[in-house]
Amino acid sequence: MPLKLYNTLARKKEDFKPLADNQVGLYTCGPTVYDYAHIGNLRTYVFEDVLKRVLLYDDYKVKHVMNITDVGHLTSDADEGEDKMEVGARREKKTAWEIAEFYTKAFKKDIAQLNILPPDIWCKATDHIKEQIKLIETLEKKGFTYETDDGIYFDTAKFENYGALAKLDIEGLQAGARIEIVKGKRNPTDFALWKFSPSTSSGEKRQMEWDSPWGTGFPGWHIECSAMAMKYLGEQIDIHCGAVDHLNVHHTNEIAQSEAATGQKFVNYWIHGEHLLVNGGKMSKSEDNYTTLQTVIDKGYSPLVFRYLVLTSHYRSKLNFTWESLRAAQNALAKLSKQVAELSDTEKPDQEYADKFRTALNDDLNTSQAISVVWDLLRTDRPAGVKKATLLDFDKILGLDLDKIEKRSTKIPAKMEKLLAERKQARADKDWGRADELRNEIEQAGFTVNDTPEGQRVKQAS
Ligand code: AMP
Ligand code: ZN
Repeated sequence: MPLKLYNTLARKKEDFKPLADNQVGLYTCGPTVYDYAHIGNLRTYVFEDVLKRVLLYDDYKVKHVMNITDVGHLTSDADEGEDKMEVGARREKKTAWEIAEFYTKAFKKDIAQLNILPPDIWCKATDHIKEQIKLIETLEKKGFTYETDDGIYFDTAKFENYGALAKLDIEGLQAGARIEIVKGKRNPTDFALWKFSPSTSSGEKRQMEWDSPWGTGFPGWHIECSAMAMKYLGEQIDIHCGAVDHLNVHHTNEIAQSEAATGQKFVNYWIHGEHLLVNGGKMSKSEDNYTTLQTVIDKGYSPLVFRYLVLTSHYRSKLNFTWESLRAAQNALAKLSKQVAELSDTEKPDQEYADKFRTALNDDLNTSQAISVVWDLLRTDRPAGVKKATLLDFDKILGLDLDKIEKRSTKIPAKMEKLLAERKQARADKDWGRADELRNEIEQAGFTVNDTPEGQRVKQAS
């Protein structure tokens, strides 16, 4: 079965056909490195990883580019508010550059722990200022830009079909707009390509700023993705991904500025993942309802348990995160790994199940169906070696390290070991107050502790 992907441009599943024979150019919008990624962000990177692994499994050569947004993403996602990097810098009393370096490393560690294959090219916005300026100059020459007191803006009224990807109601937006929020903006959907640094008289000094033909400043958020995608993948690319929150503004603006500059279609397949929710609302830094991968680990879960949880839902469905669902994923994955470990030597994979598995994934990455195929196979009377070979083959896409059991067992985190050792000492010293305090700390970290004749017994709270 050929690979079918749901293309946001067409709002339907389409057969995937790359521009060049069996080469695929894949661009995935990367993190804004002003803080740790949360597991909502990471859900999106897991879905993109499955897409990439399915392409590789289908024998395509994939060139994958991911950017690092280290300048210009304002707190509003549009043209108001502060640069998130400067907010992070102030919060931590470090420079914006230090913040960027620290959280880029943290992000790379997160994705490695989730078995997400790294891109072939990482590219930072701040390393590509020249390319961004050049693209803005092209847009200027072609008459798509105008200048305000605040920066250089893209005039969306000049770009026919603006907002087609998101099916934006431009007239509705015009009517309800508060254009005056950014003084001098001609249309509510216009967006900044280059923002000027605050005037020297204001006493504010940006940490990240560059000279440009229009004055000292920094690039708007969207231009980096167009400039870097085109630099590394060409003017036309096969697949561009992100989560649905990027549809209305970020990806819509990427299309406008790229196609205005080149006169060609920018991306053939736009693939968007749905959000991870908490109590029915989007997990987000601004809502303060987020969980990091480190918290998941501190509670004793392997990062791959989160990966398993993500795989059990379809990428275009919302997924409400609860600790109960993570615990259920942990049990399922432990059971799966145990069964795989008990299987004897490998033989050849089973063709029928391999076909079922591939069919599920080639049908718009139906990972939940693929996981059902895994369990169905285990219930058959196929020889152990055949089952094992088939499952190890599936794991090229699942990325669950099914052959490495030790990676998934519940670990008592180092922090917990320390609390337990302290509590043991407090009890030996008959310092019951301190022992109770430590019990509270242990329980707050999601564990329970019982005192038995053999000593403390600790387990994850259920
Ligand atoms: P950011 O670091 O804010 O630029 O976002 C990184 C990626 O995470 C983008 O593709 C976003 O669309 C995506 N994202 C943000 N919030 C969520 C969420 N709650 N669930 C899934 N993806 C998200
Ligand atoms: Zn982007």
